[in-house]
Amino acid sequence: MHMNLNELAIHGGKKVRDTLFPAYVTAGAEEKAAVSKVIDGGVLSNYLGAYHENFMGGPVVRECEAEWAAYFGAAHALCVNSNTSGLIAALGAIGIGPGDEVIVTSYSMSISATAPLFYGALPVFADIEADMFCLDPASIESLITPNTRAILVVDLFGQPFDAPAIRALAKKHDLKIIEDCAQAPGASLNGEKAGLLGDIGVFSLNYHKHIHSGEGGILLTNDDDLAQRLSLIRNHAECVVGPMGVTDLRNMIGHNFRMTEIEAAIAMCQLRKLGGLLNDRWDRVRYFESRLDGFEGFSMPKVRDGAVHSFYVHPCLWNMETGVDRNRFVEAVKAELPCFELREKEGVKLGAGYVRPIYYLPAFQQRVALGGNLNPLVDARQDFGPGLCPVAEDLHFNRLISHEFIVPSMQESDIDDVVRAIEKVWDQRHKL
Ligand SMILES: *Cc1c(COP(=O)(O)O)cnc(C)c1O
Repeated sequence: MHMNLNELAIHGGKKVRDTLFPAYVTAGAEEKAAVSKVIDGGVLSNYLGAYHENFMGGPVVRECEAEWAAYFGAAHALCVNSNTSGLIAALGAIGIGPGDEVIVTSYSMSISATAPLFYGALPVFADIEADMFCLDPASIESLITPNTRAILVVDLFGQPFDAPAIRALAKKHDLKIIEDCAQAPGASLNGEKAGLLGDIGVFSLNYHKHIHSGEGGILLTNDDDLAQRLSLIRNHAECVVGPMGVTDLRNMIGHNFRMTEIEAAIAMCQLRKLGGLLNDRWDRVRYFESRLDGFEGFSMPKVRDGAVHSFYVHPCLWNMETGVDRNRFVEAVKAELPCFELREKEGVKLGAGYVRPIYYLPAFQQRVALGGNLNPLVDARQDFGPGLCPVAEDLHFNRLISHEFIVPSMQESDIDDVVRAIEKVWDQRHKL
C-alpha cells in the first residue's frame, strides 16, 4: 500500500507541529511589584468626578501620564480605560456633533469607524492603500463636504499613515486628525512618533496589544485646550465645567473613562519594556522574511519610506498569479500549525484577510446606529454595499494574509515550523 508520509493535515495527514507555540506574556515581576505596591497603599483609584484636586486622578495615574508624555515627547498624555473610550473622547474633544461628517477607514477594528456615531455624526468610508493598508489620501478628498470636520486615521498593523499627504488635506479643508495608533506604539514617520502624527493620538493597552495593562488606553496631544477637554470628557465634565469656568459646553456631558491606579502601575512598567519588545519583534520579522526570501506564494509587507513599522501584525500579499485559492491555502497551513499557549480558543494566528471591511457590519447594512430619530446612517449618501471600497475588499477577500508569528515569544525554531508548514502546503498546492 502506498502511504504518503507528507500528506497535508487538511486531508488527514500528520500536522507539521502539535505542541502549542509559546505564549506572548509581557507582564512579570516588575508589574507584580508595582501592583502590590498600589494594593499595599490601599488606594486603587483616586478620581473624583468633581472640581477637586483629585479630578485628574491618583498619583500613579499621573506618574504614568508623565512617563508616557516624556517617552513620546508629548505635551500631554492622558490615561483612559480603553482605546475605544479614547477615540470617543477624542471626537468629543474636537466638538463633533450631529450633522458632522468624519472620514474614516474602511479597514480596521470597528471602533475606528463607529466612534463618530456616538455623537450622531456620520462616518464616511474612504478606501485604503493597496500596499500600505492605511487610509489612501487619494480616496479622501472627493469625500470632503462642507460638513466634514475630521479624519480618523489608523496606523494599521503598525504602519504609520501617510501623514504628509493627509495633513495637507486637513490643513486645506480645516479638518482635525485623530490617529488610532492602537497597533503602532513605537512606530514613527520621518522621525515623528505615531501618536503625535495627528491632533490627538490614541493607544490601546488591551491584552492583545504590544504592551498592555489588561484593558486600558493612552491619549496623546500637544494641544493644551484639547487635553483639557479630553480630561473633562474622561471624568464627568458636566459636574466640573461650571466651577472650572469652561465656556464651550459642546460634548461636555462626560463619561467615566477613568483608568485605575493598578492599571496605571502596569502601564508604566509596560512602557519601559516597549523598546526591547519591539527589537525582539523586528528580529522575528527579519528572520521570517529571510526564511521566505524568494517564496512565490506571497510577498512580504512594504514599509512606508521614512517609516518605522511596529508590526502588530505581519501583513503579506498573496500572489494572484499562482492561480491557487488564497483561502484554501491559508486553511491548509492553519491545519498544519498549533495555537498559541493561553490563546488556544482564538485559533491559529493566521488569517485570510483581517476583519471584514467595517461597512459590512449590521449597523451599516441596516442603517441603525442610535435609538430615536437621531440616526445619521438613514440619510447617508454611501450605500455600504459591495464595491464601496474596492481596494479594501480586494485585500480582504482575495489578497491579504495576516499573521502574528512574529511576536517576541516565537523563537527561530518556532518560526522554522511555520515556514515548514507554508512550504509543505505550497509544494502540494495542486492538491488543494
Ligand atoms: C485594539 C484596537 C482598538 C480597540 O482598542 P481597545 O483598547 O480594546 O478599545 C481600536 N483600534 C485598533 C486599530 C485596534 O487594534
